[in-house]
Amino acid sequence: MQSIRKAAVIGAGTMGTAIAAQFANAGVPVLLLDIVPQGAPRRNALAEGAIAKMLRTDPAPFMSAAAVKLVTPGNIEDDLPKLAECDWIVEAVIERLDIKQALYRKIDAVRRPGAAVSSNTSTIPLARLVEGLPESFARDFLITHFFNPPRYMRLLELVTGPATDPALAARISAFADVMLGKTVVPAKDSPGFIANRLGVFWLQTGVIEAIDAGLTVEAADAIMGRPFGIPKTGVFGLIDLVGLDLMPHINASLAATLPPGDAFHATNRDLPLIKKMIAEGYIGRKGKGGFYRKGQAGREAIDLATGAYRPVQKPELPEAKLRDVRALLSGASPAARYARRVLGQTLAYAATLVPEAAADITAIDEAMRLGYNWKWGPFELIDKLGAAWLAEALAADGAAVPALLATAKNNSFYRVVEGRREYLGLDGAYYPLTRPAGVQLLADLKLAAKPVLKNGSAAVWDIGDGVLCFEFTSKSNALDPNTIELLGKTIERKPKALVVYNEGHHFSAGANLGLAIFAANIAAWGEIDKLIAAGQKVYKALKYAPFPVVAAPSGMALGGGCEILLHADAVQAHAEAYIGLVECGVGLVPGWGGCSEMLARWAARPGMPRGPMPAAAKVFETVSTATVSKSAANAKELLFLRETDGITMNRDRLLADAKARALQLAEGYTPPTPPTYRLGGEGARAAMELAAQSFRQRGVATDYDMVVAAELANVLSGGPADLVDEITEEDILTLERAAFMRLIKNEGTLARIEHMLATGKPLRN
Ligand code: NAD
Repeated sequence: MQSIRKAAVIGAGTMGTAIAAQFANAGVPVLLLDIVPQGAPRRNALAEGAIAKMLRTDPAPFMSAAAVKLVTPGNIEDDLPKLAECDWIVEAVIERLDIKQALYRKIDAVRRPGAAVSSNTSTIPLARLVEGLPESFARDFLITHFFNPPRYMRLLELVTGPATDPALAARISAFADVMLGKTVVPAKDSPGFIANRLGVFWLQTGVIEAIDAGLTVEAADAIMGRPFGIPKTGVFGLIDLVGLDLMPHINASLAATLPPGDAFHATNRDLPLIKKMIAEGYIGRKGKGGFYRKGQAGREAIDLATGAYRPVQKPELPEAKLRDVRALLSGASPAARYARRVLGQTLAYAATLVPEAAADITAIDEAMRLGYNWKWGPFELIDKLGAAWLAEALAADGAAVPALLATAKNNSFYRVVEGRREYLGLDGAYYPLTRPAGVQLLADLKLAAKPVLKNGSAAVWDIGDGVLCFEFTSKSNALDPNTIELLGKTIERKPKALVVYNEGHHFSAGANLGLAIFAANIAAWGEIDKLIAAGQKVYKALKYAPFPVVAAPSGMALGGGCEILLHADAVQAHAEAYIGLVECGVGLVPGWGGCSEMLARWAARPGMPRGPMPAAAKVFETVSTATVSKSAANAKELLFLRETDGITMNRDRLLADAKARALQLAEGYTPPTPPTYRLGGEGARAAMELAAQSFRQRGVATDYDMVVAAELANVLSGGPADLVDEITEEDILTLERAAFMRLIKNEGTLARIEHMLATGKPLRN
């Protein structure tokens, strides 16, 4: 994917700088330009300052330190000629047509013919942006609308005009997909495009209906969030997050550009409370607070009638019905009525957006899933309710029933035929839902296939060409005896290659701590010891199997989940992989080979100083602090991944990439030879303990950290072994297991595990 060798982003604000960071994350050098600030001693001050700010931003826009170096700051007065080297120039300056157009003229004077120019505008139609500009410019111009924050939000809306070169648009789309990791949704050149057009309608309706019904913000958010697969921020929490001050601008822009008959206008009411809040600086989380704020005595919410803050109240919801969306909307309670009004109007509005804003319903669903983090898109939600049921409910409310809803009648918007998903077109016919080449999903495969093997915690799928896929299926993809057992059975089948992959938010949270604490509470030490031994055995079987194993994590891969990666022949990681050996955080040490694998990696690292101490010290540092990588690129720096491991930017491409890697490795595959170790013995152990003590003295480490660190130091130094001894993998595994068993019997460890299970946070005892 060499189509973009160098890029430029103009406008080093919130979006521009973070978009530049994502180019850098993809390994593409990028120029970041802004204006020359008046009177500033440094002409690149704005871009330089913006990059420095990104380094302090959490969640981090950059994936690695190496990526930061790929961004070159500059300014539009001195550096414009450098645009001639760029294949894609992204404009992300303030939302003003005159400023954008003036800039395009400057860009056009220096850019290479055929170099793409795109705008990140949220509201200005493409037709207006290219008005009066040369035809040759319009041919290379498009809108690429990123969502904030661009590294983490997967949606990219792509808008082309009648003059845009289709080949250029296809090139940009493919690059954005494969290299920037975005799901590209084609949108029409209509106001607000897709996600914001519908999202803002939903938010605005959510606000005015709550005010009209006299509902509290907590009650509104509780019903308009989780029950419908919408993030728990609901309506008011989301406005607090994006900023109340943005709403009037977006509303005004939509009001000015949408046709008079559009349903949006009825929701665009003047809201004195919000005006007042903005005027007084209550603009949400970035200001003094918004609909919610942190008060002295805890979290507070605003009273929509009086504008006064009061402690948040736990809203009453019809708990029993939370899973049945139709029942939720049918009730007579104020919450049900509110949900019916807000969701009913929003879903109806969605049905009017095809084909005006999107070519088909799949684009709208994808945009809402990825742009607003909805679990289900609007048409998937309508399928849950039934199109006919919704049409009736709308009619009963005196609302118009959109034509598309009438087309669907008693049919669903999606259906599965012979294991393939189809969607309903405007003409009432069904069309196959196709995936881009290079996208393979277990979710699709499951529509047509049965698992090869399965138990309560894992399943094995045939993903073609002789390759099997091992999937964790337990809660949080935690590992337990069932997982270990099925992994053993899978290895016995000797496939051509094995991929370990799943489509959960997180690859694996690690070993099931609930089971561990249960066993510990009844002193079933033998059972725990057996599980440690079984895990060690199966992980080694995985490592030395006669076929290649490729692990493909996305999200968190912690503890035992990380150890699976360490035993695979190769890892193909999603760029957003957060990998770590976090056992010390719950008062344990890695027990399934994590210590031995990390020792071998650090010892074999090119440029490591000689002797056994430096590698052990590195592992000690990473493991005793329970360090988790902040990206796949960062995991390479920490050696959780090897330099040769692959990184996939687009989540949807992970399985196909992993399978391709596995097949490549299967050619003439030979299993690795077991390493031997030279560890530092007593002297190394003393040195590591000394390091831990210095942390204790500085107040960074706690008393119980010292107990855990001593056990870890014992494993990493080879126990009582001497410097000259050659010790084996098996020896280290024995040490890991013994340390684990001593710790799990300790009250300090049990307190840590219980606290983690109860709060999700580590206990600092
Ligand atoms: P911002 O105000 O944070 O940054 C705009 C930057 O443009 C500033 O650094 C400013 O100095 C610079 N600038 C102004 N005139 C310039 C010029 N002539 N040449 C070079 N630089 C110039 O704005 P933002 O939020 O990053 O938004 C940028 C664009 O992205 C807008 O079109 C906006 O509609 C769009 N957008 C914003 C978001 C969002 O959530 N903030 C999301 C999607 C799209």
